Amino acid sequence: MRDELHAALDRVGESGMYIMGDELRRFEEAAAAYCGTRYALGVADGSDAIFLALKALGVGPGDEVITAPNSFIATAWTVVAAGAKPVFVDVTEDFNIDPALIEAAITPRTKAIIPVHLTGRVAQMDRIAAIAKKHGLHIVEDAAQAIGARLGAKRSGALGDLGCFSLHPLKNLGLYGDGGLITTDNEALYASLLKLRNHGLRNRDECEIWGFNSRLDSLQAAFASVKLPRLDAWNSRCREIAGMYRAGLKHLVQTPKDRPEEESVYHNFVIITPRRDELMQHMLSLGVESRVHYPIPIHLQQAAKDLGYREGDFPVTERLAKQMISLPIYPELEAGEIAQVIASIVDFFKS
Ligand SMILES: *Cc1c(COP(=O)(O)O)cnc(C)c1O
Repeated sequence: MRDELHAALDRVGESGMYIMGDELRRFEEAAAAYCGTRYALGVADGSDAIFLALKALGVGPGDEVITAPNSFIATAWTVVAAGAKPVFVDVTEDFNIDPALIEAAITPRTKAIIPVHLTGRVAQMDRIAAIAKKHGLHIVEDAAQAIGARLGAKRSGALGDLGCFSLHPLKNLGLYGDGGLITTDNEALYASLLKLRNHGLRNRDECEIWGFNSRLDSLQAAFASVKLPRLDAWNSRCREIAGMYRAGLKHLVQTPKDRPEEESVYHNFVIITPRRDELMQHMLSLGVESRVHYPIPIHLQQAAKDLGYREGDFPVTERLAKQMISLPIYPELEAGEIAQVIASIVDFFKS
């Protein structure tokens, strides 16, 4: 991509337009078309995408927002930053919020649900949407890990009121710094997000509401326009790698299985085994690095102690935190490396 990225850099440099403008608009239009929504809007990062989505919905002090405790911390701090209270609901073995437990967590103060499409796999959105409709709640998708993921004919970002994406370098559509994206079909929400991300300004001089400064730089937008047309190929390569891991490991550890109606983008390929720590050690001794997403559930973080949760509140999340391993997965991974990862795990169970 070097030549195309350098051309994008030259184009932005010569335009002199570094904030907002045509590059951003071009990427936003392409991103909306890709996600299948009427609107897409670049913001500073994925966390701001969630935070601004909540602000656009009017979520604030006294409100509660239901989400999963098995996520990156930003899913929860953005709720707190908006002035509301995160209310956690346990996940199922697919790492995503358990729809069967959501209704019990709803109170008169509940305003929204944030399903997280963790590991690049869409949450059970049909059931979640039915619950949201019944109780008059908004849905903000945390799709930071799931750009391009499908459920039926729809992609993530088109499955709720607002879709929030991260363009952080480690995400499936990763830039050369921070970046974020919000998608929606709702014109009124789009109009208020345009102001919220730009100081609350209606135009150059008139400020309509108190806002924020959270924009996607023209340069990052130009880079994103180079990368977006390649995203589907990268995601399908990740699915192919996932298939190889599944075939090589399914008799040894629990591996993720796609439901027939879905297409995951495998931001992470997470295996489950009760011998997690030993296995990670053994893999490392054979030159294979792995990670845990996430070893400390959000409700057990020090920052969350005022929320009043305790160990034992979310048994599936807490067990998974002790049993999961994210294997290396990214499009550039080569056949020999994939085989080495599999061999390191096979070797552990043999010895
Ligand atoms: C990465 C991530 C975020 C935050 O995105 P940033 O761009 O890093 O702010 C939020 N939620 C989840 C699930 C993520 O993986």
